[in-house]
Amino acid sequence: MELKKNAPLSKYTTIRVGGLAKLMVFPRNFEEVREALKISQWEDIPLFILGRGANTVFGDFNGIVINTRFLNRFTVSEKGDGLEVVAQAGVPLNYLVELGLRENLEGIYRLVGFPATVGGAVAMNAGAFGYEVSKHLRSVKFMLYTGEIVEEKAEDLEFSYRSSPFPTVGVVLEAVFFFPRANYCVVQEYEDIKLRRKQTQPLQMPTAGSTFKNPASTSAGKLLEQVGMKGYRLGNIAFSQRHANFLINLGGASYEEVVKIIELAKRRVFEEFGVELEEEVKLIESSSAYGWKVCGA
Ligand SMILES: Cc1cc2nc3c(=O)[nH]c(=O)nc-3n(C[C@H](O)[C@H](O)[C@H](O)COP(=O)(O)OP(=O)(O)OC[C@H]3O[C@@H](n4cnc5c(N)ncnc54)[C@H](O)[C@@H]3O)c2cc1C
Repeated sequence: MELKKNAPLSKYTTIRVGGLAKLMVFPRNFEEVREALKISQWEDIPLFILGRGANTVFGDFNGIVINTRFLNRFTVSEKGDGLEVVAQAGVPLNYLVELGLRENLEGIYRLVGFPATVGGAVAMNAGAFGYEVSKHLRSVKFMLYTGEIVEEKAEDLEFSYRSSPFPTVGVVLEAVFFFPRANYCVVQEYEDIKLRRKQTQPLQMPTAGSTFKNPASTSAGKLLEQVGMKGYRLGNIAFSQRHANFLINLGGASYEEVVKIIELAKRRVFEEFGVELEEEVKLIESSSAYGWKVCGA
């Protein structure tokens, strides 16, 4: 299995922030994923599963990062009034979006314009414009941290707003979707969404998308704007002028700066509105709660 020691994490995330990972591995099949889990246990180091790194901000990570980019098998077959897609975790979500456009499939085209792997999108239950990845998901094959592979129907897994049982219960290996053909032409809506993203998001800058989840009653961006965080800069990191909930790396931003600006934003919003913003981005460093420590097993 391909393996890198002291891998520079900024190279592997869209916001381009990060220190070093003790180890990064690039499994090409499920057996190599199992090997990576064993390494983390033998070495007694934390484990993190990385897709495109579009929702992740790293500090130094004294553990093992499983990079899923080579788990990239993708099959499509006709089934009744739609298409069944089987996609391994590292397949770019964009392949599904483009398929949706070409084949005029329902829903998935609405996820145009953001980077993700299938595994990361399932784990985050990524969504936009009223559509979530879990909508047409049929089943997920995943590896428990014991190394056992299981497959569960999507209806037996709990998905909600930007939340799923993964990676807590295991590593997503493969997802099966069924996309019905739409009875309207999807291309116009696809183009509108693409344009809207271009107009409202800082797509030319290194970013990790929405920093915070939207609270029940309003958007995080609105609250941030009202407490003066839109365009606010701290060192080399700033909340975008274009989208108050997007952090942008102005060049050489550090993990510590990201954590500081997030803390400041949360404090201001809490003091002004009594609302506790919850991070959507994953803040990962060695001692972070998100860094998965595989125990016992
Ligand atoms: C410009 C921009 C716009 C964005 N807009 C949106 C948007 O509209 N809607 C939206 O939902 N998101 C958006 N995002 C955020 C991001 O694209 C999504 O969260 C995406 O699903 C992350 O996928 P990833 O592969 O990059 O995941 P990563 O960042 O690599 O990982 C995210 C989480 O998923 C876990 N994970 C990854 N792969 C696996 C796996 N195989 N098994 C188990 N766990 C795994 C990781 O451990 C981590 O906890 C945007 C990001 C950018 C940069």
